[in-house]
Amino acid sequence: MKHSMNGEEMKLLRESELYMKTLCRDIPGRCVGSEGNREATRFFERVVRTHNWQVELQEFEAIDWEEQGATLQLGERSFEVLVGPYSLGCDVREELIPVSSIDELEKADIRGKIVFLHGDIAKEQIMPKNFIFYNPEEHKRIIAALEKGAPLAVIGATGRNSGVAGGVYPFPLIEDGDFDVPFAYMTDVEGEQLLRFAGREAALISRSRRIPGMGWNVIARKGTGTKDRIVVSAHIDAKKGTPGAIDNATGVTILILLAELLRSYEGEPPIELAAFNGEDYYAVPGQMLYIERMDGRFDEVALNINIDGAGYKEGRSAFSFYGLPAEMEHKVRNVMAGYDGIVEGVQWVQGDHSMFVQNGSPAIAVTSNWFSENMDDQKVTHTPADNLEIVDYTKLVEIAKALSEFIL
Ligand SMILES: [Zn+2]
Repeated sequence: MKHSMNGEEMKLLRESELYMKTLCRDIPGRCVGSEGNREATRFFERVVRTHNWQVELQEFEAIDWEEQGATLQLGERSFEVLVGPYSLGCDVREELIPVSSIDELEKADIRGKIVFLHGDIAKEQIMPKNFIFYNPEEHKRIIAALEKGAPLAVIGATGRNSGVAGGVYPFPLIEDGDFDVPFAYMTDVEGEQLLRFAGREAALISRSRRIPGMGWNVIARKGTGTKDRIVVSAHIDAKKGTPGAIDNATGVTILILLAELLRSYEGEPPIELAAFNGEDYYAVPGQMLYIERMDGRFDEVALNINIDGAGYKEGRSAFSFYGLPAEMEHKVRNVMAGYDGIVEGVQWVQGDHSMFVQNGSPAIAVTSNWFSENMDDQKVTHTPADNLEIVDYTKLVEIAKALSEFIL
């Protein structure tokens, strides 16, 4: 920040450290459908209520998932495999059929066999079958061919796909609780070795379980009416296996700081602080439910400000703009100019602001510039490395101050 912190900012700084610790350390994971996720949403609800916000809970069903490892054996040789997230388990022994392209997959006789996806067909994560926001034709063809072909199981060999799958290696080629062919995956390096066993009998055991559960969005409101409202959003869920500090406990913490800074707000325009639940979950249930409840009334949203990936220790915070009216954009830029640590960033689509932009509402996305610049090779997102160690708390206070100044 430009100046040394005043008393109010010091207080916000201490609070943000506390909220982050609660979300990332005290709560054991925030993936949708889990008890940790419900704890996180209850925590958010409780704190915003203390700052006099009206709260609506939008509840949905979502499965959680538990696994106890997988083994793959070909004759004497065993291979390292991981259980596909949200996959069904299996215990099968059948011929291994390698496939490296969609055409090959559509022609192959895979019924009752074990399909091995490697090379070109496994280069990027396949979108979940019911994911409506972005779903390339080739992805739909792969899923359709697998469901029609009815193999006993699918194995995928993958490298990195940071832009879509985060910093994990190997990345799960399929992550979809609505896809019912058992799936396991391995590194591309291990896959090279497996290729030599094409046509041989493979024994795959995967111990995996889907657990029915619940989750909800928490929508906090202030002000009069619903027209021309400002929706400030951050997804509260995290991927399994990560504390989700930058993705996206920092976003939720900024929402809470805003709840405090705007605690006396009344009148127009109305303001919504939305903790969405499902951005990092295959079925994006919170976002789907929010859209359903909007019932086409996105024209009532004057602006969405979505925070995702903010507060990374290196670089500055980035605000990017999507279809803002000229006067509004001018005002935002004026406010930004007063904050050293905030710059304009490039547009990106992998966040909840896209839901608003696709429905015709203007939006601002708030993130860390470092992530935009290292999108394709960063090894942080969705991994254990996304923890409290990499957070700069002063950036959270700065973003909250800038946003409240603009809103007020
Ligand atoms: Zn995120």
